[in-house]
Amino acid sequence: MFLFDAVAKSSVLYCKGHSGYYSCTKCKQKGIYINDRVCFPDLVSEPRTNECFLSLNENNNFLSGVSILGDIPNINFVSDIPLDYMHLICLGVVKRLVVQTWAFGPIPHKLCARDFNKISLNLESLKQFIPSDFARVPRGLSESKRWKATEFRQFLLYSGPVVLKNVLPPTKYFHFLSLHVAIVILINKKHCDTYLDYAEQLLEHFVKSTKIIYGTHYLSHNFHNLLHIVDDVRKHGCLDKFSNFSSENYLYYIKKLIRKPSDVLEQIIKRIGEIEKHISSPKNCNLSDKNNFEMGNPHNDGVLVNNCGGPQYKTAKFIDFSISINKKDCCCVLKNNIIITAENFAFCSSTNEFVVVGRCFETVQDFYDQPCNSSNFGIFFVKNLSDLNYWPIKYIKNKLIKLPYTDGFVVLPLLHHDE
Ligand SMILES: [Zn+2]
Repeated sequence: MFLFDAVAKSSVLYCKGHSGYYSCTKCKQKGIYINDRVCFPDLVSEPRTNECFLSLNENNNFLSGVSILGDIPNINFVSDIPLDYMHLICLGVVKRLVVQTWAFGPIPHKLCARDFNKISLNLESLKQFIPSDFARVPRGLSESKRWKATEFRQFLLYSGPVVLKNVLPPTKYFHFLSLHVAIVILINKKHCDTYLDYAEQLLEHFVKSTKIIYGTHYLSHNFHNLLHIVDDVRKHGCLDKFSNFSSENYLYYIKKLIRKPSDVLEQIIKRIGEIEKHISSPKNCNLSDKNNFEMGNPHNDGVLVNNCGGPQYKTAKFIDFSISINKKDCCCVLKNNIIITAENFAFCSSTNEFVVVGRCFETVQDFYDQPCNSSNFGIFFVKNLSDLNYWPIKYIKNKLIKLPYTDGFVVLPLLHHDE
């Protein structure tokens, strides 16, 4: 596949840029000009075919030349060039809603000062709860014009549903939740296997409702392409398999290999060759099995229960995540679906195995039930911690993000993967 943002795509494929009347590379809908931008109000339109990209005559409205990529055999210009959700959704649709509508948009959709401050304070208060897996912590709406793509992703998948609840009017909140649920599904392989058609219906509903709630002029290139992205997931796998998040991380890595301005490509190839030669064993070689774990940060003053004693540790590291006894990295779900917070890792002499000492949440319920129950995706509202207890470490299934909400917490599984 080839990954582009909209600007690079039009310059490599010689197709119309994202502001053009025929800018959709997936369908033949002609945009209309409303409020200084091109919009695509129709939900259904004739799909584009690979032949469209290869024949200049037929497409004088769409193409201005024939791309050199056509020289590579068996490329399908429609399906092998997937849409990039980092630009399209995080920096496109979510930014449009958060920054250009709620925070700084025109009346009547702009938030009043009270709600603007409430959401900002909510976001700021989450800082200390964001697990160390995230490079960034939430910032208030006043800084939202400078949010990075990863901050919009964090808002869409994790913090947004929590900080907007009971602040945004219900219609707008449930509209946002339908996008949240659709992307929660599309980003995770397991959910894609079960709920892909449902995600497609949700995105159609989201686009249709955008027109009703915010107006036809919102259906720009980015909003329109939500109608096509599920086809790309069908062909290429879940969103992280073809997102620019991973390719941009790799670009950053490549940039750091360059030491002088000349012979850039030669330098990169030489450095990568040197690095590959010196890597003798892959990272996390001891954790190749999903059930394996490593103990870290030994200590001797943790909380203990009957049958448990030293050695004690503050961290248990698994192949995909680490659980620690600090506030932001302590929450996890066990294989029997009990949700716990870890307070210590110790050794149990009666069963001869490492255990996690902690407490489980006794009240576990759906955090939202529209457009469907959040429990389908392992997202819950939890409260009421039990007395101290212990469970074998091998029972730990997944790390959870635990965000405070009213008198309890909303817990959400870590969904995105950058690698
Ligand atoms: Zn289209």
